[in-house]
Amino acid sequence: MSRPPTIAEVRVEDLAVPLLEPFSISLSTLHATANLLVRVVLDDGTEGIGEAAPWKELTGETQEGARAALARAGELMVGKPATGFRALSGALREALPADTSARAGAEAALLDALTRHLGLPLHAFFGGVSDAVETDLTIPIVPPARAGARASEIAADGFHAIKIKVGNDLAEDVERLAAIAAAAPRVDLIVDANQGYTVEEAMAFLMEAHARGIALALFEQPVAKDDLDGMRQIRAATEVPVAADESSATREDALEVVKHGAADLLNIKLMKCGGPVEALDIASIARAAGLGLMIGGMVETRLGMNTSLHLACGLGGFGFVDLDTHLLLAEDPFEGGFTQEGPRMAVGAAPGAGVRLR
Ligand code: MN
Repeated sequence: MSRPPTIAEVRVEDLAVPLLEPFSISLSTLHATANLLVRVVLDDGTEGIGEAAPWKELTGETQEGARAALARAGELMVGKPATGFRALSGALREALPADTSARAGAEAALLDALTRHLGLPLHAFFGGVSDAVETDLTIPIVPPARAGARASEIAADGFHAIKIKVGNDLAEDVERLAAIAAAAPRVDLIVDANQGYTVEEAMAFLMEAHARGIALALFEQPVAKDDLDGMRQIRAATEVPVAADESSATREDALEVVKHGAADLLNIKLMKCGGPVEALDIASIARAAGLGLMIGGMVETRLGMNTSLHLACGLGGFGFVDLDTHLLLAEDPFEGGFTQEGPRMAVGAAPGAGVRLR
């Protein structure tokens, strides 16, 4: 075998893409991405790219902070062998513990570069379980009539699952849910409160949905991320599976969720955990504990979604896939990577992650 390639350069640039319409969840509203594009160049000239998507309310990072973290990450990475990605991931975690999306972008770019160098598709590197999954589509916090109209379109486009953002106003949330259920009666409904409810409100929401004959496929992060006992109480009171999202950022968090019996399922996001290496650790914890897996993202472009898609396809076992934010954007600065028909997202056979800047 030839000498392993070393990392020659890490470069960062802004990745600002306007959204088709403002995206509101219980914690904040986004009008455009304020993400970063990370390029990792190997000494043989191979270049890999990755996306960092800091979101103050969700990852605790700003774009400026993530840019500074990536400058530091570059210092740690340059000169190191690209094959030592796991050691590098550990070093970045130690040096930049809170800069999770920055680390995720650096790690994604490194693994893209390494697998391009090896001539191996990224999903094969992760285990090659499958080459396609189906995603849901998300309806943010919008008035019920608008949500119903959107649900009709989503169902007509062939999607089998809709994720509904709730957690601001219980009465309006129920009306939004009812409008969506009426407009898309055969679609699985996932609700995500993004920590917006108290335990009592979450219970009331579930009872109201039940009373209206609306079946829910999943209830994501009903209460505050640290309220693991509250999560367990809700689980005990309903047949609807409960997913930990904000409660489960890192592998330590995942273990706490397991210990508290706080969820049926863990939602893994690369921007939250720091990248693919830690995502693999979290997936192992979930599997060992008999918990299901979901994959999602922040508001990311095709580049970020594609990394997560390769992970989900390669590793397998993701019963819920929420990789739809590229569809919220008014522009797509990238090409390649996955192809999509309705909900079905298929990774390609190109080496690496396969995405290029247009
Ligand atoms: Mn969520």
